[in-house]
Amino acid sequence: MENADVVIVGGGIVGSAVAYFLSGDSALADRRIVLVERDPSYAQASTARSAGGLRQQFSTPENIAMSQFTLSLIRALTTTFSPEADVGFREQGYLILAAEDSVKLLSENVALQRLHGANTVLLDATKLSGRFPWLATEDVGAGAFGASGEGWFDPPSLASLLRNAARARGVLLLHDEVTRIDASTRVEAVQLASGPRLACQAFVDAAGPWAGELAALAGLALPVEPRKRFVYVIDCREAPEALRHGPLTVDPSGVWFRPEGRLFLCGKSPEEEEEPPAVDLDQIDYDFFDSNVWPRLAARVPVFESVKVVNAWTGFYDYNTLDQNAVIGPHPDLANFYFACGFSGHGAQQGAAAGRAIAELITYDAFCTIDLSRFGYARIAEGRPLPEQNVI
Ligand SMILES: Cc1cc2nc3c(=O)[nH]c(=O)nc-3n(C[C@H](O)[C@H](O)[C@H](O)COP(=O)(O)OP(=O)(O)OC[C@H]3O[C@@H](n4cnc5c(N)ncnc54)[C@H](O)[C@@H]3O)c2cc1C
Repeated sequence: MENADVVIVGGGIVGSAVAYFLSGDSALADRRIVLVERDPSYAQASTARSAGGLRQQFSTPENIAMSQFTLSLIRALTTTFSPEADVGFREQGYLILAAEDSVKLLSENVALQRLHGANTVLLDATKLSGRFPWLATEDVGAGAFGASGEGWFDPPSLASLLRNAARARGVLLLHDEVTRIDASTRVEAVQLASGPRLACQAFVDAAGPWAGELAALAGLALPVEPRKRFVYVIDCREAPEALRHGPLTVDPSGVWFRPEGRLFLCGKSPEEEEEPPAVDLDQIDYDFFDSNVWPRLAARVPVFESVKVVNAWTGFYDYNTLDQNAVIGPHPDLANFYFACGFSGHGAQQGAAAGRAIAELITYDAFCTIDLSRFGYARIAEGRPLPEQNVI
């Protein structure tokens, strides 16, 4: 049997960040860290199918702080990684719109975000029309706009930078699948599909949408499951330049859109009762666009009345059914089993901070930078949600 100090399962942005920050502590340079990823193509990984949004418009202070950490990492990319490092960050902002009856909640969220250093501003319908002339605002109460520090980036590029840097520091990347976890009062070892067993001192579940399945191998209940989401690529010939340079906009209905080159991306999370089966990523529901997305798009941005869907893709959210927030930290009874999962559609922008947090916990047994105790497993065990209101 081989030995490892830390086994991290999942080579997406979260597992790669754990590997990067764990291997970055020079005092612990001789630790044997193994990153296990079953799919070298990352074809189904959430990271590869993400829309890459980065915002500070959350209702939970921890989420704001985690996204701010990724922002600072992205801003320092060329000094941290290499002069050529680039993750395609477009700082065009987020615009979250609220109907009249939700303005109070929106303004409370803006106040919280500003308290935590975000540059979010609240705009009434008149100011919205002035700033975004392409927007229909008759039925809008207000909008919250991230005037700086928000936008979108390419998550696979950031994941690769983190993973490659971790490997350069000695982390072993194994293309294999963990099929069994041997645990009693601690995780003792994992079984790999190719045959060998790997003994470990610490184990990290960074398996994204499959984190619940992985936890179950150790007999642990974790309410994280894959939820299928559709992203549609649309062409709008008539779109004015201002719209092409506009923010990621979220309609009160939950429909979102943003520019992507000369095209636009858009989508909507289905209601609970319309959740599609979480299978077959090749199967795209174009009726969902016609019935649930396009009518809201055209109502919100009149020029979207005439658009053509030119492409689409699907992906799995790593969905925490309890409260749509991440689970970060050790299991209370299996203390060397660490969760880094359940991001529910905001993990691309929070993976880096989660990786640093797990590295701190494994190394120092404490959160040293952002206190993420409220994201621990205790709330899962007690069925006590810590809800995030801004889930897109
Ligand atoms: C359509 C879509 C849009 C999104 N938009 C945004 C956005 O705008 N902003 C944002 O922040 N987030 C967004 N997200 C969410 C974000 O992409 C995820 O939260 C994040 O990528 C999760 O990263 P991860 O590393 O945990 O998971 P993944 O990238 O899924 O990586 C997990 C890896 O674990 C591997 N694995 C699983 N089980 C095993 C096993 N037993 N053995 C070995 N390997 C295993 C899998 O092969 C996979 O590669 C979006 C997601 C989707 C699908």
